[in-house]
Amino acid sequence: MAVRAGCPRKVSYHSRSATEVPLGSTLAGTGANAATRIAVLPSAVADQIAAGEVVERPASAVKELIENSLDAGATRIDIEVEEGGLAAIRVSDDGTGMSPEDARLAIERHATSKIRGVSDLVGVATFGFRGEALPSIASVSRFELVTAPNVPPGTRIRVSGGALDAAEEAVRQRGTTVTVRDLFYNVPARRKFLRSARSEWRAIVDAVTNVALARRDVHLTLAHQGRALVDLPPTARLRARIATLWGSRSADRFIDVSDIHGPLTVMGLAERPSDVGTATRRAALLVNGRPVRDAGMIRAAEAAYRSTLPAGVRPSLILEVTLPGDMVDVNVHPAKAEVRFRDRWTVERAIEAAVRRALGTSDSAAVFTHWRPAPRAIDSAPPNEAAPYFDEGNGAGSAILPLPAAPSDDDTLFAIEDESDAATQQPVERATLTADIIQLRRTYLLYEHDDGVVLVDQHSAHERVLYDRLMHAFEAGKMPSQRLLFPETLHLSSSELEALDEHRADLEKVGFEIEDFGGQSIVVHSVPVLHARFDAMRCLRETLASLTGDRGPAVHSRHEHLVATMACKAAIKAGDALQSSEMQALLRDLSHVSFAAHDVHGRSAVVRLSWMELERRFGRR
Ligand code: ADP
Ligand code: MG
Repeated sequence: MAVRAGCPRKVSYHSRSATEVPLGSTLAGTGANAATRIAVLPSAVADQIAAGEVVERPASAVKELIENSLDAGATRIDIEVEEGGLAAIRVSDDGTGMSPEDARLAIERHATSKIRGVSDLVGVATFGFRGEALPSIASVSRFELVTAPNVPPGTRIRVSGGALDAAEEAVRQRGTTVTVRDLFYNVPARRKFLRSARSEWRAIVDAVTNVALARRDVHLTLAHQGRALVDLPPTARLRARIATLWGSRSADRFIDVSDIHGPLTVMGLAERPSDVGTATRRAALLVNGRPVRDAGMIRAAEAAYRSTLPAGVRPSLILEVTLPGDMVDVNVHPAKAEVRFRDRWTVERAIEAAVRRALGTSDSAAVFTHWRPAPRAIDSAPPNEAAPYFDEGNGAGSAILPLPAAPSDDDTLFAIEDESDAATQQPVERATLTADIIQLRRTYLLYEHDDGVVLVDQHSAHERVLYDRLMHAFEAGKMPSQRLLFPETLHLSSSELEALDEHRADLEKVGFEIEDFGGQSIVVHSVPVLHARFDAMRCLRETLASLTGDRGPAVHSRHEHLVATMACKAAIKAGDALQSSEMQALLRDLSHVSFAAHDVHGRSAVVRLSWMELERRFGRR
């Protein structure tokens, strides 16, 4: 770039052996003889090449400029865009601003105020540190920087295609405004590859959204073609920011994730399984406040949904991971959009565990869609988070399913200890179920609870309970099974036989003892004992039938797929009349499983209607 003082390296041609190439000849210099094939590029060319890495499109310029403003301590950043950023981008902030000297240095390559040496790179807290963004952008655009520190004077610098046009005094309040016009006007090859103004604009909105999610303490505005489109005042809460960005309905789709694993914190929002797939999917990750892309982390979060979602459907997630700076390297990507972890496995497991825990809470149960009383003033306040039904105070008994309250004045809902687990772990608290449970249409169980009315789908709930039990049996390697007095013979189709071969070992693990009987027949000697109404042979046949020709969806491992199928076939059905004791037992069992709120296909098993909601519907509030 023209503003930089050149610093050509001196090369001694005499000491050079025949096979060496000159280290420091430049294209502009006289050293470009026939023997010279490697040359140091003039800085303007180097800037343009680097520009390709740092700014691939208008959105990346926007991102770099916003990050500079954040690094300068801005509390307000205004972003204006013309034609998707292809015509013009302007980012103004109220940050520290720059002195005249710093302003000149800022547009030089590797000029940065943020680090001084390699050691500063470990745990670097600023967004920038490479000192590449401004020179890169200025080398491929008509660039203007207007900046002023606390004490005047301010400075205006104009650069076109990397060549300094003007540097003069200017008047401005403290802060910095960078205007970038005609991006890539002097690099036709790049300009050609830019997409339409509309898709560039979308990319800019994404970039601004990422920053908005990360830095909720900063007031951000975004305008396109002179029209103000987004105004994001500062807020402490991620949920509130999402409500302003995407509307309060979107914010309602999420449950809170909040977990600590040693030095690692995982916070954020995860979409309720019952809402997944019904609106645009959005995923955002922040590592130590920095928006990053990381497929591995997303996969880990999605793994937590396993068995609550049908294959191929992906949840929306906004997750913030905080960890000590020396556990993460942010300097692995020119645009700093990727990070490297010292121990990726631990990070991913922590994410999975955090999301899993969030999904296991009662708050993830589907709520009745929010009904708003007609013409009242627009409710711009962030939506209330549903209060958890139980405190998750002491250890193992986390609040999963709101159970009917005991009418006694005893203030603990949990009375009986779980006998089977008592020896090995914290006692699992067990609810005393004394309230009435009503079966509706032989399909749903209804009961009241301190905080509202709860509806449970009996099949989905039972399926979930059985799934949990079978999975445990799998992990423990033993399922209670019963030897049949008279072994039963089954005739299978060839595809059912194939399915049997595929899953035989797993079927044995869950308690089926099966022997080949020649031809298409098998003999079953033992069957699992699941519940009183369980018809083992019918379940086996139906399970095999539904596993035929089906290798199982990729997200589920094979045995999970088998177990899910079996649980579905073995569960009580809609239409089964249940006795009061059976309903009690089912709800009690359900209160002990994880993901109680969803069946294995991701449908809701539990729907809650809070008194508050009910009162609102009846106009009592
Ligand atoms: P980096 O951000 O990697 O340091 P940049 O090229 O983006 O490199 O910016 C170079 C330097 O210019 C920064 O280190 C900072 O000192 C200064 N600077 C850039 N933008 C601003 C701004 N908006 N406010 C104050 N200083 C800025
Ligand atoms: Mg920067």
